[in-house]
Amino acid sequence: MPFLTYPRALQLKKELCETNAQVITPDDENYEEGITRFNESSERVAGAIVLVTSTSEVSKVVSFATKRYIPVVVQGGGYSTSGASSTHGGIVINLSKMSKVAVDPASRTLAAQAGATWAAVDNVAASSGLAVVGCTVNHTSVAGTALGGGYGWLTGRHSLIIDNLLSIKMVLADGRVVDASTTENTDLFWAARGAGQSFGVATELVFKAHRQPNRVFGGCLYYTIDKLPQIVEFANRFEQLSTGKECLFFGFTAPILMETTMIIVIAFYNGPSPEAEKFFEPILSLGPIVNETRMMPYPQINTLMNGAAEYGGRKRFGATNITLPLQVEFLEELYRDFDKIIKTYPRVNETVVVFQLIPYTEIIKVPSDATAFANRGKYYNVGSIFCWNFPELDKKMGSLQNDMMKKIRERAGALQGGKLDDGVGVYANYAGT
Ligand SMILES: Cc1cc2nc3c(=O)[nH]c(=O)nc-3n(C[C@H](O)[C@H](O)[C@H](O)COP(=O)(O)OP(=O)(O)OC[C@H]3O[C@@H](n4cnc5c(N)ncnc54)[C@H](O)[C@@H]3O)c2cc1C
Repeated sequence: MPFLTYPRALQLKKELCETNAQVITPDDENYEEGITRFNESSERVAGAIVLVTSTSEVSKVVSFATKRYIPVVVQGGGYSTSGASSTHGGIVINLSKMSKVAVDPASRTLAAQAGATWAAVDNVAASSGLAVVGCTVNHTSVAGTALGGGYGWLTGRHSLIIDNLLSIKMVLADGRVVDASTTENTDLFWAARGAGQSFGVATELVFKAHRQPNRVFGGCLYYTIDKLPQIVEFANRFEQLSTGKECLFFGFTAPILMETTMIIVIAFYNGPSPEAEKFFEPILSLGPIVNETRMMPYPQINTLMNGAAEYGGRKRFGATNITLPLQVEFLEELYRDFDKIIKTYPRVNETVVVFQLIPYTEIIKVPSDATAFANRGKYYNVGSIFCWNFPELDKKMGSLQNDMMKKIRERAGALQGGKLDDGVGVYANYAGT
């Protein structure tokens, strides 16, 4: 693939001069900002960045690139840690200016331009007493999350983000603009739900919205390691206790201000405080060293983990799955592995590994072959973000993370019995995006 030469970049500028799109080239002031990503090591020297404002501009850029064999990538929020939204020498289609969101309370639907953040979606939906299943961190882009499947706090009740997607507008590789839904371009709609990042540039998405009149309970809790057995014991009963209103995230982290690895728990309950406190009583009563749980409007719950979404430093996603029950001894062993990494590589402070108990009852009601999403099964996601600062540690941190995910998969994953009941047991948006 040819590098976008300067004359080609000028040609692109000329092609778009009658539109509102802005073409940024390496000599422009805001170029450095334009190639910055969540993970510093995934940044690449792009030939040009195009800040698009409409579907037709996206189409023009894609046609321009396709005709000339110039590589194109799409950037939503820039959170891929693999470099999937960066290009060496090609064109970045940056969707950040395509961020409008509109809600229709009568039909309970919400339309979002692909570059909108989940923060915008949550706030617009809430203005009508509604909520859309969306990301637990609200800085990521709507399309970047949705096209890979999408889990959120409301998944226990309303399934995945893609199971609430009603239609999508996409620009295909030849520049054509098409709509896809269960009645139009159905093959593309099948593919867009789970593997959408590979089939075109999504520019608009329409979602089902749900009534969300009440505030929700949630927040982070931090515990010392001696509380691990009781937390694992509670997690092991989650499946029997859950009604779909609750989620329980727990795992290990070493926040900057704390000297040793802590257990982090994030609780979510879609209902009143007394009910929530009763549900989480076994862990609330353990004496966390920090307890930030409280009642809040739904959009706010998706801001609590935004610290993990801050740009800067080198980062890598890793993922696998677990099934319940978990063995306390195994979790203690993992804690020791994690703590050793933190202590050996002290700049890895924000590194986390989180077991995400989001009820899968609604997810598995949709057959695996109904969409391209390949992670529907009776198991839970494990997500990890490893963070470090020095390029010379890139390989080491990658292999440490891979080893940890492998160990979890082999000792606590759904594959233990020899065969997964369904799906591949890895959420694509956490692994390799
Ligand atoms: C801290 C943190 C927490 C997270 N929590 C959750 C969570 O709760 N639930 C969940 O499901 N996921 C979660 N994720 C994963 C997140 O959804 C994915 O990383 C997602 O792909 C990010 O999308 P982006 O657009 O922000 O990133 P980008 O890097 O811009 O895009 C990611 C990929 O999608 C492609 N893409 C983006 N927009 C489009 C488009 N319009 N058309 C075609 N392709 C496009 C890009 O080319 C790239 O391949 C989390 C990520 C982080 C960093």
